[in-house]
Amino acid sequence: ITFKELGLNNDLLRAIDDMGFINPSEVQEKAIPVLLEKDTDMVALAQTGTGKTAAFGFPMLHRIDVDSRTTQGLILSPTRELCLQITQEMKTYGQHLKGLNVTAVYGGASITDQARSAKKGAQIIVATPGRMKDMISRRLVDISKIEYCVLDEADEMLNMGFYEDITSILSHTPDDKSTWLFSATMPKEVSTIAKKFMYDPFEITV
Ligand code: AMP
Repeated sequence: ITFKELGLNNDLLRAIDDMGFINPSEVQEKAIPVLLEKDTDMVALAQTGTGKTAAFGFPMLHRIDVDSRTTQGLILSPTRELCLQITQEMKTYGQHLKGLNVTAVYGGASITDQARSAKKGAQIIVATPGRMKDMISRRLVDISKIEYCVLDEADEMLNMGFYEDITSILSHTPDDKSTWLFSATMPKEVSTIAKKFMYDPFEITV
């Protein structure tokens, strides 16, 4: 199967071509058509290196409105390193989407600079939970209109003690958003989060 057959738009197909991706990986083949077609929650059991970033990244980029400056997508990840990596990947995948703004929010760097970038109108914010919670409480970001929320490496985030931060962040998001949870393992804490914050999620295992 090809990326075109999965239903991605031409701007994304051009980027995929630029990057030299030939075929979708297993997690991409399973996740992308569902996330493009349905307003559904998803729980995906997938390790790093399976192409999971593109599995949630392509559908999010396909669905957001780049003509709007409203923040529509939020991606939470456990570490600054991963946050920056995902941000870079999203920018590369979305390189042909005119008007796209992806911004990174993470601890250990200037909150003022990050607030300025976010205020410029980022359609997508990629964040670590601690700094994100901080910026929400200081009203430096607005996630009250997001439509898509990714919890990436959910098991790692919970291992690192981000349960409270994640709960607090999610309480500032609309109830009717779609939540896409990606995790390498499914310990009790992760299924608790899924039960608490997701409705009848579509499940994928690779
Ligand atoms: P990830 O699991 O998201 O960390 O992705 C692992 C690596 O695989 C990244 O460097 C991606 O750029 C690359 N990648 C993702 N999807 C594909 C694909 N369909 N074909 C070739 N490389 C890919």
